[in-house]
Amino acid sequence: MSLSGIGYDCHRLQQGRRLVLGGVEIPFELGLAGHSDADVLAHAVIDALLGAAGLGDIGEHFPDTDERWRDADSIELLRATVATVHRAGMQILGVDCTVIMQAPKLGPHRQTIRTTLADALCLPPERVNVKATTGEGMGFVGRGEGVAALAVASLDPAG
Ligand code: MG
Repeated sequence: MSLSGIGYDCHRLQQGRRLVLGGVEIPFELGLAGHSDADVLAHAVIDALLGAAGLGDIGEHFPDTDERWRDADSIELLRATVATVHRAGMQILGVDCTVIMQAPKLGPHRQTIRTTLADALCLPPERVNVKATTGEGMGFVGRGEGVAALAVASLDPAG
């Protein structure tokens, strides 16, 4: 038996911030605004894991009102989430995710993001899939106002 969880997140693009996706800093004129490093992809993966495990959401575990998480490295938050899932006796089977971003192109960074996420998830890279699409010029993503990410995680509750 396996359990699935979904995760969704979005963050606003603005000047003077870094663009960090899946723990990888991507050179771009704009970055993502947020309390932590605003790694929208890591946040979606965290919510997918917590969803599959029945453990609530990222806001409960890492509230953005908590100064501990200001400018936090979201890959470290992901590692902490993975440890929580393991402590609950569950095994992570795999993660699939999609970044929805008008620019820049994710393609050149996709393998690095995959291996970075896989390392944090304690999974081989082939169990972690990273996809990208644009907003086709529509909506907040299409206008370049922000970046969104979706993730699905599968867990074996028996470990
Ligand atoms: Mg977020």
